[in-house]
Amino acid sequence: MRNLAEMSSAAATAALSRDSVIVLPTGAIEHHGPHLPLATDHLVAEAVAIAAVDEAAAAGVDVWRLPGLAYTKSDEHHWASGTVWLRWETMMATLVDIGRSVATTPARRLAFLNGHGGMSALLQVASREIRRQFGLQTFVLHAAVPPDQGGPSATGELGLGVHGGLAETSLILHLRPELVDMSTAVRSVPEHLTRYQHVGFGKSVSFGWLSDDFGPSGVIGDPTGATAELGADLFGSAVSHCSAALAEIAVFDPAGP
Ligand SMILES: [Zn+2]
Repeated sequence: MRNLAEMSSAAATAALSRDSVIVLPTGAIEHHGPHLPLATDHLVAEAVAIAAVDEAAAAGVDVWRLPGLAYTKSDEHHWASGTVWLRWETMMATLVDIGRSVATTPARRLAFLNGHGGMSALLQVASREIRRQFGLQTFVLHAAVPPDQGGPSATGELGLGVHGGLAETSLILHLRPELVDMSTAVRSVPEHLTRYQHVGFGKSVSFGWLSDDFGPSGVIGDPTGATAELGADLFGSAVSHCSAALAEIAVFDPAGP
């Protein structure tokens, strides 16, 4: 039982020590095309966190988790009804307040396990803020690094599969198949972006984008080839990677040995 929220304050305090790692999954409730549920990023972050924390704990790592943050900064999907998003100021204040709260426990390590690409930049800023203000050692790891942030991308998506594409659709087909409607899954890859050498996803010049900048579908990727089998593979590698990363986070010391 590694969910701190299901323990009493006294039991959680007794279970934690300076070296304990607390994991907070960060997801989103946002438009993911006609074929995927709004909670896609939340479901993925939470499922990967539960499995990775269990796996690391079974291997002897002192790691615990908090319930995932479902509502985050999804302003890039603000135009779509059903997206529930916090302004960056609200989100930043929320993360810092969570850091302040974690700092009242004996644990000194807080890891954000992120399932929503739109949160990455803010999590970096919050990590440093929490480090400075409350002395926690902070970390950001990803259920899957999105292609626009250096992660892998399927060949057919040309490095542009950042939202509602092959990987995310396969993951939800694996985790919650009843929530996917493959009959409405449509390829929506902004291929014209490959014309640019410097500006683009994962290139040297980034750009501020909204998900309807590329067309009305809001999907950026190609979900049409998604399968539950691929989803199971992606989920398995995400869990092994995050579990191994948590083991390293538990012993990481920037000051040296
Ligand atoms: Zn997503």
